[in-house]
Amino acid sequence: MWTDDFLGLIFPRICVGCGNSLWKHETILCDSCSYHLPRTNFHLQSDNPVARIFWGRVDILSATSFLLFNKGGKVRNLIHSLKYKGRKDIGIFLGEEFGKILRTCPPFSQSMIIIPVPLHQKKYLKRGYNQSEQFAVGLSSSMGIPYTSHYLWRKSETETQTHKSRFSRWENVKDIFFIKDPVKITGTRILLVDDVVTTGATLESCVSALSAVPGISIAVATIAYARL
Ligand SMILES: [Zn+2]
Repeated sequence: MWTDDFLGLIFPRICVGCGNSLWKHETILCDSCSYHLPRTNFHLQSDNPVARIFWGRVDILSATSFLLFNKGGKVRNLIHSLKYKGRKDIGIFLGEEFGKILRTCPPFSQSMIIIPVPLHQKKYLKRGYNQSEQFAVGLSSSMGIPYTSHYLWRKSETETQTHKSRFSRWENVKDIFFIKDPVKITGTRILLVDDVVTTGATLESCVSALSAVPGISIAVATIAYARL
């Protein structure tokens, strides 16, 4: 439509990866950035670095991440815009892209519900959305699995985790998640999702809370994996 071109002159659509103008057929990323995204392919190996984070800590079926987080790189730009620039469309886009891969890959493809890690209440009010939930929305649409934020809840605000060691991070998030209506998710296979996994402390705490539900099994997927 002519209006698209006209608006494009006033508000040029920019690639979140490299900052170049987007062609009409491109949405979040230009074709080049999209092609060169650092995909982990961790879903192809059960003993991948993300799965290893949880070994000996909590019981999960498998874990994977879509992308490698690289400081100063395209993935950092994507996550930053998703979290701090109101670009929830990025979360949906990345969920849809990853879902196209995971929908044929057990145990992820066998999940019955997708559950995002809940955000701090304060951050939710400030941001207006939970970025992990946007990722869940995208995964849900391309995997054909429903998502819900109804069952897993975060109790209260905890202090910022930026400068903490793995142990104190764990201490910080240990008991902050709880389950509502556990009866309704008894015996289900959950796909637990988050934005970036580093120490795994937050996800581990969610898995602990969910594991109290009888017969539940959990797989984990995140947008990105950042090495410590
Ligand atoms: Zn680009």
